[in-house]
Amino acid sequence: MLGPDRFAPRLHDVPHEELEAAGIRGLIIDLDNTLLGFRQTELEREHLEWVARARERGFRIAMLSNNFSERVNALAAQLNVSCFPNALKPLPFGFLRAKRCLRLRRREIAVVGDQLFTDVLGGKLCGLYTILTEPIELKDFPITRVFRFFERLMLRNRR
Ligand SMILES: [Mg+2]
Repeated sequence: MLGPDRFAPRLHDVPHEELEAAGIRGLIIDLDNTLLGFRQTELEREHLEWVARARERGFRIAMLSNNFSERVNALAAQLNVSCFPNALKPLPFGFLRAKRCLRLRRREIAVVGDQLFTDVLGGKLCGLYTILTEPIELKDFPITRVFRFFERLMLRNRR
């Protein structure tokens, strides 16, 4: 239940062609530490370009974040993607809302995020393909640090 389908250092390390070949047509992407580090205020050019090219190729994209700040909406608007803040990941409600918005079948959607116990577990609970990225920055909220400890235990020898 906790093994991601794929690892990637960053979202932009995943080739669009590879996703297409796997039948993926939609993405549900985490924000914090997946697209943006805690100290960053602007999206990296690589991520902006990757998302823009994905949209050009016809991928449908939604941002799903447990964060509730204005920032989530602003960055989703900048990327021109749908936005679901306050997601309460790994609970399935946010994922299912994002899935409905993408209007795709489960096997056509990949979840991309940096946390095993929110992004990957939640995606798996909904039957979605999951990609675990490395966190952009290691400074985290205290609860996230606890999760990171268990992630390291779970992922030892797997990356
Ligand atoms: Mg995250």
